Amino acid sequence: MTTPRTFFGHPGGLATLFMTEMWERFSYYGIRGLLVLYMAAALADGGFGFDRAQASAIYGIYAASVYLASLPGGWVADRWLGLQRAVFIGGVLIALGHLAIGLSAAFEQAAFFLGLVLIVLGTGLLKGNVSALVGGLYPEGGARQDAGFSIFYMGINTGAFIAPLITGFLGEKIGWHWGFGAAGVGMLIGLFVFRSQAGPRLGENGLRPSGTPEQQARARTISLAGFGLAFLVVILAMVGVFRPDPVAIAGHMSTIMLTMSGLYFAYLFFLAGLTTAEKKRVAVIMVLFVFSMFFWGAFEQAPTSLNLFARDFTDRSLLGWDMPVSWLQSLNSLFVILFAPVLAVVWERLGARGRNPSSPTKFAVALILAGLGFWLMVSAADRVAASGGTLKVSAWWLTASYFLQSIGELCLSPVGLSSMILLAPKRFVGQMMGVWFTSIALGNLFAGIVGGDVDPNQLTAMPDLFRRTAFALFLAATVLGLLIVPIRRMMASEQKS
Ligand code: GLN
Repeated sequence: MTTPRTFFGHPGGLATLFMTEMWERFSYYGIRGLLVLYMAAALADGGFGFDRAQASAIYGIYAASVYLASLPGGWVADRWLGLQRAVFIGGVLIALGHLAIGLSAAFEQAAFFLGLVLIVLGTGLLKGNVSALVGGLYPEGGARQDAGFSIFYMGINTGAFIAPLITGFLGEKIGWHWGFGAAGVGMLIGLFVFRSQAGPRLGENGLRPSGTPEQQARARTISLAGFGLAFLVVILAMVGVFRPDPVAIAGHMSTIMLTMSGLYFAYLFFLAGLTTAEKKRVAVIMVLFVFSMFFWGAFEQAPTSLNLFARDFTDRSLLGWDMPVSWLQSLNSLFVILFAPVLAVVWERLGARGRNPSSPTKFAVALILAGLGFWLMVSAADRVAASGGTLKVSAWWLTASYFLQSIGELCLSPVGLSSMILLAPKRFVGQMMGVWFTSIALGNLFAGIVGGDVDPNQLTAMPDLFRRTAFALFLAATVLGLLIVPIRRMMASEQKS
């Protein structure tokens, strides 16, 4: 397969990475919308018949693990495999994971959970590292690199937009395993593209690890031991040595992650030998970490509570046909693709007048927009509850809610990661990427923990959940709003020093 020499005026390697990540996201979002529906579907409908709280908690643990796995994944690539090999092996593990899930009809739950673990490990190796390879295309950094990442983000969202349309139709209308299988085929296409183009297009970029031979050997031993341990735990659970309770695990996992994050920030403040100016910047990072967690905790309810709402209480008729539930999952990416250029122009215009909002201001706007999105869902859910669960509301409620959340995402997600890099003390840049991923992981976990509250058997829990979510977002926006001026001062005093 050949690629053009340049790609929208960018290095040809960007086309390769764009396609690889587009197909990887196709596979990720292809099953994201199906997982909770599948696990919670009755046995008679080919599902596992799990209760909703369990299904949603399992999803939360899975999605949080996917993001957390990027931390060791980056380390493994740096020290042992090199970025290119890490991406390829990650893709192979993901494809195997989908294969296992696709076959779970024959082998039941064991294959399904093994598949999820493989996807976690594979995405850990692929997702962060493919972005690092994009960064490597622009050794000069700057505006061209930003433009490269914007194009790359379009690839992510193109994959995420198309996937639920295909896998949702196959999974919900034909058979669950056709949907999961199609997601796996997507990853195989991505692997094929990467394999055939990486050599000529990426060259030396990320070809070799940065570690010394001793470091490589040590990293290999540690990684293989980690892989082995992950599989051991899954196998022990499979053969019934212990019976994990997903809801309890999700709760413990969030406590552990919050404690570890707190300890890590304490270490940075007190033991890392940072200057006062650096400490101020770390304080800003900590604030952004907390509010990012709130945002993703709401946003990531798309595949959990909002998905269940789409299934049970939303009128999905489209020209006389009942569209698949997971088609509504495509709306987020559609809005991102349509409105990313609009927001880019808005920031540019404001910037030209010297009024580009600071990152905490953009975060606060994102929280308010997501809060409004959930406020709409309170009204929708109230209507359903008032009807005793018989009413199916218009799909416009979810559409409008996803629209507001997507514009919020565009205000928060791009500046989040870049603020981490900008504010990180020099020696801690890599770790601050990890901090950002941890906040997303925590958000996913919270969204999983609460996501089972959409249930025809306890109708009032549903508007309550959306109300609590909206309230938490508005409260977070207010607190952050009060902090904007002090934060801006901290950032400004630092830039002068
Ligand atoms: N939709 C983007 C992706 O899949 C961002 C998701 C996120 O950062 N939580 O990469």
